Amino acid sequence: MKKHFETLAIRTQADRSPHREHSVPLYLTSSFVFDSAEHGHDLFAGEAEGNVYSRYSNPNADELIKKICLLEMVDDGIATASGMAAVFTSLAGLLKSGDHLLAGRSIFGSTHQILTELLPRWNIDVTYVDVLDPESWKASIRKETKMFFMETPSNPGLDLIDLEFAGKLCKENGLIFNVDNCFATPYLQTPAEYGADLVVHSATKFIDGQGRTLGGLITGRQELIEELRFFARHTGPAISPFNAWILSKSLETLSVRMDRHCRNALDLARFIETLPPVEWVKYPFLESHPQHELAKKQMKQGGGVLVFNLPEGMNAARAFIDRLQMISLSSNLGDTRSIVTHPASTTHSKLTEEDRLSVGITPGLIRISVGLEHIDDLIEDVRQAMDALL
Ligand SMILES: *Cc1c(COP(=O)(O)O)cnc(C)c1O
Repeated sequence: MKKHFETLAIRTQADRSPHREHSVPLYLTSSFVFDSAEHGHDLFAGEAEGNVYSRYSNPNADELIKKICLLEMVDDGIATASGMAAVFTSLAGLLKSGDHLLAGRSIFGSTHQILTELLPRWNIDVTYVDVLDPESWKASIRKETKMFFMETPSNPGLDLIDLEFAGKLCKENGLIFNVDNCFATPYLQTPAEYGADLVVHSATKFIDGQGRTLGGLITGRQELIEELRFFARHTGPAISPFNAWILSKSLETLSVRMDRHCRNALDLARFIETLPPVEWVKYPFLESHPQHELAKKQMKQGGGVLVFNLPEGMNAARAFIDRLQMISLSSNLGDTRSIVTHPASTTHSKLTEEDRLSVGITPGLIRISVGLEHIDDLIEDVRQAMDALL
């Protein structure tokens, strides 16, 4: 019988060393020794398997990759130093001058900068599509279109992309389907089931889950990962063994943490919906989310992030944020500690006002990454801060 998610996340591990340790050791080494001159030759020629140099592979990175591949239900993967290294490698390692990229309009701020400012330097053209109008995507496909890149749920709009629809469209048109699965994690959603060829992650967020380390993951179909591995080995986005060790340990508790993140987020979203200064709350598993049915179809639970709008705008948002006593004011998400963010003035400030509004980032939009504190304490903090607006 195939083992369950919780078990695979805990019991997949590197081979034990001769010391028979229970917890996996940390392999802090930049290089590895060869048994003989011939062995060195064979390793470099690809005629023998084994570690050579930690820019190529390392037992801690390998363990992390083996685990995430089982959880995402894909063939192979690469671990990188940050989420952006994973996103960039997945694009630059496969696209070339003259290619065209299709992308969902709601994407992470730095990903937007790569697509808008960097890819055109290498003559790679990008078209943004409206994530909420799948029927319109087809019209943007050209014969040069090579890949469709998207996030679901999107940051910070929490819009969903229909994975089944997108997977079919990519298959019919021979596009590489590349999904940033950072918000959901493989515990809540596995895009490969819907035909995703690549699934990338910022492991910095829920996968670490404790706000300690940066990390990224690229997983997917064997032949694509082979091509990306060539690119990554020689351009050097490698993860450090220490961060890989942390992230592999973090995956062991992902399911229990996500269960609590999701329960707290749903309860807090329901509470915020009752507050008079709030125009609307968006959370995939709230009945009021416009894509609630799709959320239930492709996600196991709603995730750990919610957003809401204060129609009074920027000043109201700032007043609310400054009155919070416990919830941290920061730009990160996916931490044990709840974090409040004002996207319009921080994470998405580089976008034009028009671009922001087109993806639902109003001046009064507030994002909360709901942590693992007791729900009553979270509700109390939000309640007392909202009193300031009455
Ligand atoms: C944070 C984030 C990234 C970037 O990851 P880093 O680890 O900060 O480099 C990419 N995509 C999404 C959806 C994110 O939230």
